[in-house]
Amino acid sequence: MSNTLNGLVALVTGASSGIGEATALALSAEGARVAVAARRADRLESLARKAPDEMLALDLDVTDQESVRAAVAATVERFGALDVLVNNAGVMLNGPILGADITQWTRMVETNLLGSMYMVHASLPHLLERGGTIVQVSSTSGRIASAYSGVYSATKFGIAAFSESLRQEVTTRGVRVVVVEPGFVATELTSHNTDPTMVAAAQEMAASMRTLRSEDIANAVVYAVTQPEHVAVNEILIRPTDQT
Ligand code: NDP
Repeated sequence: MSNTLNGLVALVTGASSGIGEATALALSAEGARVAVAARRADRLESLARKAPDEMLALDLDVTDQESVRAAVAATVERFGALDVLVNNAGVMLNGPILGADITQWTRMVETNLLGSMYMVHASLPHLLERGGTIVQVSSTSGRIASAYSGVYSATKFGIAAFSESLRQEVTTRGVRVVVVEPGFVATELTSHNTDPTMVAAAQEMAASMRTLRSEDIANAVVYAVTQPEHVAVNEILIRPTDQT
């Protein structure tokens, strides 16, 4: 175990699976104390048991502003500070725009975009106190839109816009903003699709390449947050070698 993050406190949203879970473990392995937040409490409890360093499992629904404020407050109350926010919670419900179930659009915008904005809003005063880092988990879909992922892409493009404004507002006050844009990572993300064509397309894509693992993204996050204070890694695009 290394100790590059000794004494620092991180809060990871969407830590109950996939990229968030791997990132929480990686930050913990670097010596950070980590609040792990999501809706599935059972998953968080078993994650906390695996951690080399102290972890706090927090019930969080990022679409609920009160829940967001409570999670940030609970992190600061337990660990005394907040240095790193990993804004990772997200859902992807792909399908054609024509005839779409609009409730799925609402869910994506509320979770991926508004939810991550609420997290920044609640965390920023604490991050400014300590010269912290905000890691915004976007996607290649935040750089290139494609058919059948219009709303998901819109949320991720939105994250990019918000993050750049945020960066300009806080960077000279010592808060670093990092946008991470993964390509295809093997996680539960595609399993929430309700459109069978989209499920089949995701399975076909996964079978066609050596996908990224959640740990690959966690390593990128650790790289960004362990740089010297004067170095701001603002953007990391990381795709499977086999993904065109
Ligand atoms: P997972 O489905 O494994 O993880 C998504 C996480 O988000 C879960 O922990 C889930 O927890 C959490 N979450 C969903 N809704 C909410 C909510 N309302 N409140 C709090 N937490 C919520 O997928 P990934 O690990 O792949 O996804 C993580 C991030 O990475 C997402 O933002 C995704 O868009 C992004 N990404 C993923 C890629 C991939 O190929 N997998 C590629 C590019 C980006 P719970 O259900 O317990 O609340």
